Amino acid sequence: MITYDHIMIRFGELSTKGKNKKQFIHLLYNNIRHALKEFDGLVLEERYDHIYIKLNGQDYEPVIERLQDISGIQAMSLVYKCESDIEEIKKSSLELIKQEEGKTFKVTCKRSNKKFPLVSDEIIRKVAPVILRNTDLKVDVHNPDILLSIEVREEGTYIFVRTYPGIGGYPLGIAGKSMHMLSGGIDSPVAAYLMMKRGVTIECIHFASPPYTQEAVIYKLEDILGKLNRYQQKIRLNIVPFTKIQEAIYDNVPESYCITLMRRMMFRLASMLSLRRNCPVISSGESVGQVASQTLQSIHVINEVTNVPVIRPCATMDKLEIIALSKKIDTYEISIRPYEDCCTIFTPKAPKTAPHLEEVKAFEEKFEWKSLLEEAIKNVEVKYIGDE
Ligand code: ATP
Ligand code: MG
Repeated sequence: MITYDHIMIRFGELSTKGKNKKQFIHLLYNNIRHALKEFDGLVLEERYDHIYIKLNGQDYEPVIERLQDISGIQAMSLVYKCESDIEEIKKSSLELIKQEEGKTFKVTCKRSNKKFPLVSDEIIRKVAPVILRNTDLKVDVHNPDILLSIEVREEGTYIFVRTYPGIGGYPLGIAGKSMHMLSGGIDSPVAAYLMMKRGVTIECIHFASPPYTQEAVIYKLEDILGKLNRYQQKIRLNIVPFTKIQEAIYDNVPESYCITLMRRMMFRLASMLSLRRNCPVISSGESVGQVASQTLQSIHVINEVTNVPVIRPCATMDKLEIIALSKKIDTYEISIRPYEDCCTIFTPKAPKTAPHLEEVKAFEEKFEWKSLLEEAIKNVEVKYIGDE
């Protein structure tokens, strides 16, 4: 019985990044090191094509599980490292394949160490017969039960059979920061995850309307962000007091237009904060057509208040797809906890699905909202969820 001693990490999309590649890999390396800090004894090696983790006797399962939350990792394999010597390679390949279940196999080989005396095909033709002679396995080149891969490199040869998927995307921090609108519903945590997966660090903004909305909403957000800490270890939450703005809207604007105006105010506030906090974009959990405020016409009228680009990762997803992802990232059960949101509390019976911009602007002439926005921004409450 031989034990796998390394995990080999593959980058996927990163490999297409030309001269920035080194910088990308180094960021990923740091993110991985950070995420694995609770594991003792692991040694990370940063190389041009892969990052390797030397297990030093550590159990591989919890390490792989943790790595499956790190954006920028396409896949990882459990590998055995031996000397680049054909006899060693033959012996180790046989031992490793004996530990697997299945009836058929295929051997693949990659030789990046051009000094190695045999080319890939020759290595395969040396290894496969040893397996055929010493096991009951048969070769199947099209659909093998076991795929044994051999990578001959300068520093040694890596042999592996088991590969695990990562979440893909880019390493967190590569793409700057987004001001993410977090509501406590199902969609916005999923949108946050999709941003982070793409390498974007998030900072959250939440509009709270006490006493109409309860403190429980904030606990809910903290729980959601606690789950998202797996992807980003520390998340800033900006809680914006929204009550006065909301009341002013309801005092001055016909009910059917309240949501449109409320959302315009939200985007104004998000824009103001995004500039202060160095976030070049805003993101939200909106999905085309899902509710009255998310028809194309509503999105047009609401988005009109800002020049800051708004990224809506869930825009074209069906609710069922969003729910499936929220279950995957483990926020679903928290999101469905009943609570009063500032949107649900004032929900009109017949919100406008096709608001007119000119009418909206006329309503906004009727009351003094600018100072209310300034005041709200001044009174933002800040919390940090998770730690560095
Ligand atoms: P979610 O499931 O994310 O709550 P939703 O389907 O309920 O979304 P809306 O309530 O229309 O849809 O909200 C659309 C988006 O606007 C949310 O995904 C979120 O990004 C943002 N949003 C809504 N309410 C708030 C809030 N109180 N604070 C911050 N952002 C909000
Ligand atoms: Mg909502």
